[in-house]
Amino acid sequence: MAAHPRAAEVARQARGVLLGGVPMNWMARWPGPFPIVAAETSGARVTDIDGHTYVDFCLGDTGAMTGHAPAPTVAALTAQLPRGCTTMLPSPDAPVVGAELRRRFGLGHWQLASSATDANRFALRLARQATGRRLVVVFDWCYHGTVDETLVTRGPDGRARPRDGHLGEPVDPALTTRVVPFNDPDALAAALAPGDVACVLAEPVMTNIGIIHPEPGFHDALRDLTRRSGTLLVIDETHTICAGPGGYTRAHGLEPDLLTIGKPIAGGFPTAAYGCVDAVAEATEKLATGDEGDVSGIGGTLAGNPLACAAIRATLAEVLTDEAFTRMIDLGARWEAGVQQVIDERSLPWSVTRLGARAEYWFLPRRPRHGAEAAAGVDHALDAFMHLYALNRGILLTPFHNMALMCPATTEADIDRHTEVFAAAVDELTG
Ligand code: PMP
Repeated sequence: MAAHPRAAEVARQARGVLLGGVPMNWMARWPGPFPIVAAETSGARVTDIDGHTYVDFCLGDTGAMTGHAPAPTVAALTAQLPRGCTTMLPSPDAPVVGAELRRRFGLGHWQLASSATDANRFALRLARQATGRRLVVVFDWCYHGTVDETLVTRGPDGRARPRDGHLGEPVDPALTTRVVPFNDPDALAAALAPGDVACVLAEPVMTNIGIIHPEPGFHDALRDLTRRSGTLLVIDETHTICAGPGGYTRAHGLEPDLLTIGKPIAGGFPTAAYGCVDAVAEATEKLATGDEGDVSGIGGTLAGNPLACAAIRATLAEVLTDEAFTRMIDLGARWEAGVQQVIDERSLPWSVTRLGARAEYWFLPRRPRHGAEAAAGVDHALDAFMHLYALNRGILLTPFHNMALMCPATTEADIDRHTEVFAAAVDELTG
């Protein structure tokens, strides 16, 4: 608090005029009495209004996985801005964006949305329309944005129930959703058996209750069970794009029927995309875009605007390149190895997990297999201590389970500094 008087003043001003004192409620969740206030960002650095510069491993919780203000994206936005932000007309960049998304992810038919949340909502609509079914299956402790059907956990009776402390759910979520534990093919088979599920919406590796990898064979079972029950598979690559240029889907040869992605595809400019295979396009195109359809079910006034298209085109072509991924993933491995060494040397009952350019430590000796196991290992006080200890020493981690993400501008020295600070925090705790 002593080092951030200006941030304290901004927090004081905001308290009377912004709900919770912040423009977006999640910003109130940073550990400490108030969040630091960003003045400027560049690459892997954030400088706050109190003059402190941080190595940024939060990267806007993936929105800035490209590094902050990547030059090609800034150039594309700067060129488009004076020519117009939004027109409700396609721009010449639009088909280029569609072709690049097809090349990366393999699905043939794309639409843009304003956020990953919207992309997921629209994907659910397409899946329902294509199958004539209503229900959705998600994995316990998933997060796919503020999508009503997905804001659930699995109750003791196995039914979907609202997440603890959840705000204003519209209906009993058991009416819309079945929830199964990740890595549990038997539970998945049971949820799909009645043949009334439109789609399974899944991150290919869970990332929002910590990183939980699929066990060997789980994706094969997921694809097999969905196909056999006539259920579509929607893969949400919004975070797992950290696994490679075509996300986990391309890296592991997955074959989703629909795929959604948001956050970093335009260097942090708000936009997202969702794609589908031929069969889903054929079953939905008439209603989604044809004269006899009602366009209000998917899309949005600002979605697919020329700024968004310009930003996606430049970001995918020049920033999130194959070379950038190779570098970011190497850096992720260095972060993981550094933390693992500290854990090993001190025999801590903790573990570290990584997916490509994303890594995090967990206060459990073994990596959790599913969301409930991970949730049981959450220690909010310890999370906050580790987070603030790092923040006060120039390292910014995500405020949720201290995740770290590498961007193309992250350096080996940045990683080694994190390892040093992590070791010092542990030594202060255990010393
Ligand atoms: N999907 C996943 C996997 C996410 O982690 C998130 C956000 N954390 C979203 C979708 C929603 O993204 P947004 O808040 O940008 O709509």
